[in-house]
Amino acid sequence: MSLLDLLRGRGARRMRVLTCGHPALRRRSEAVSAVTPELRELAGRMVVTVFENETAGVGLAAPQVGVNTRLIVLATHDPEEPPGLTASAGELLLGPRMPLALINPEVIWFSPETESRDEGCLSLPEVNGPVERPARVVLRASTLDGEVIQVECAGLLGRCIQHEIDHLDGILFVDRLRDEDRAVVAPQLAALERRARRQLGLAEAAASAEGPPSA
Ligand code: ZN
Repeated sequence: MSLLDLLRGRGARRMRVLTCGHPALRRRSEAVSAVTPELRELAGRMVVTVFENETAGVGLAAPQVGVNTRLIVLATHDPEEPPGLTASAGELLLGPRMPLALINPEVIWFSPETESRDEGCLSLPEVNGPVERPARVVLRASTLDGEVIQVECAGLLGRCIQHEIDHLDGILFVDRLRDEDRAVVAPQLAALERRARRQLGLAEAAASAEGPPSA
């Protein structure tokens, strides 16, 4: 039984993914000081959320579900599939353990060489654009069981780690687009932000209204 089946069997429910314009996506998240049962449950629900979204993601950071804590989940690899011949040490180590939750992840080394690849994000539905990032990074993080991982990651994994850690610092991939590429997606971003503001306004209005909310 896969981890995902196990989580579903326990009734872990997916969470709503916040979209661009929600303030939680722009906050710097707090370090995890202790792995509580609540944190484990959050990690499990984030894993289910990654797989059960309309477009399956390859990773998710806690701020995307409204929790500003330094927790990410990674699902860049199918644990059943053997790694490619050029797989990095990180892909070899972490790929078979995916989906994997990591706490307090940080990049302690960035390669000088960079590469550009299209990115997307569950918090920016239907927005894509090329982001230039270091091709290899050394990740340091802890698992929920207290194991400290320090390993060099490249490929999709290396990119995903940088993308998810950006979320913990309030950064979205569109912030890293070149000006001309950001101009292409600017109308989509404006529409997402308008929608988020409307939803927040409705939520605040409901919270301040007297009596129980009607929906
Ligand atoms: Zn993202």
